[in-house]
Amino acid sequence: MSKILIRGAKVLGGEVRDVLIDGTVIERVDTDIDAGDATVVAAEGQILLPGLVDLHTHLREPGREDSETVLTGTRAAAIGGFTAVHAMANTFPVADTAGVVEQVWRLGRESGYCDVQPVGAVTVGLEGKQLAELGAMHDSAAGVRVFSDDGKCVDDAVIMRRALEYVKAFDGVVAQHAQEPRLTEGAQMNEGIVSSELGLGGWPAVAEESIIARDVLLAAHVGSRVHICHLSTAGSVEIVRWAKSKGWNVTAEVTPHHLLLTDELVRTYDPVYKVNPPLRTEADVLALREALADGTIDCVATDHAPHPHEDKDCEWAAAAMGMVGLETALSVVQQTMVDTGLIDWAGVADRMSVRPAQIGRLAGHGRPVSAGEPANLTLVDPAYRGVVDPAGFASRSRNTPYQGRELPGRVTHTFLRGRATVVDGNLA
Ligand SMILES: [Zn+2]
Repeated sequence: MSKILIRGAKVLGGEVRDVLIDGTVIERVDTDIDAGDATVVAAEGQILLPGLVDLHTHLREPGREDSETVLTGTRAAAIGGFTAVHAMANTFPVADTAGVVEQVWRLGRESGYCDVQPVGAVTVGLEGKQLAELGAMHDSAAGVRVFSDDGKCVDDAVIMRRALEYVKAFDGVVAQHAQEPRLTEGAQMNEGIVSSELGLGGWPAVAEESIIARDVLLAAHVGSRVHICHLSTAGSVEIVRWAKSKGWNVTAEVTPHHLLLTDELVRTYDPVYKVNPPLRTEADVLALREALADGTIDCVATDHAPHPHEDKDCEWAAAAMGMVGLETALSVVQQTMVDTGLIDWAGVADRMSVRPAQIGRLAGHGRPVSAGEPANLTLVDPAYRGVVDPAGFASRSRNTPYQGRELPGRVTHTFLRGRATVVDGNLA
């Protein structure tokens, strides 16, 4: 493979350096490196980050290829600066066997745009009744370490306990979609002032918080790791903060949309704002930002949830829940966290690459930008300003809540083990 010289980038937003990539690894990080026969990428004014890692992506294949495939989803991921994504298990069939997770893993390798680490279902068919073959999925070629029934909550406390006990044997983690089912029957949006004014069924904060409280206690009881998906309320933050203060093995993620958008948007009745967990209040948004800044929330995860237009362009009550997010995640984090002064770019590298890779025990990603490391890298132009136009998305779906919004920053280049997957903001 040929050499690539990234010239004059601010590494993690700090010192200006040249970075020489030789084949699949970073050969040298220094000043004034002689280009020789290397291809030069002029990166003055740009930020160099380790390739982003998403713990929570819905790639929809197998079964819903009308909304996304592994290929289109990993293209969207590369455009967004990601070099690895965890593919959620709520496919058709469900990823609850070694056969299905190996299929997804293989499709990811064939795509070549981004590493795909399959997430295995916790229970057979996501039905919450019987543990899936966790050990077989872990021992498969896919090497599953993260298990989740995401989309559904593992609400049976005994099943949750058994799953936590089971994954302990191989240092796995259970990622919980915290939603008490009885408290959210018929829920259409956040329960609060807006839901009562609109007369829509409310999704109370306590439905999320009660499950998180139970699960951090269970994780502590069995001495295992639990990860909380898409925290959305100020109360959830308080519980995770308390659990961490006890020294329990609890991690948590927040989505970009929960860092920016509030339930006031539901007044438009535009189903593009319908998502699970729902958009919450301004006070929740501010608590989530603060928690991501102080490390209570470990990482950002997109919950990229593509849907075809017929499932979203309909009345609110009938619309599917979810938003695409891979291609806008970094821009939303820049706007809500960096441009507000809450974290710096080294913080972005930590929350969007290092920590999600650690939680997923994903080798080769979330590594320092230094010699000898795999060349999984993302180059960002933070001065860029652009209006989101979903017509240009690499994703097969268009259900973004940011259409027509100006967002800062753009990924100019993404490198997966030294191969450029994105060049000048376009797929290579
Ligand atoms: Zn979920």
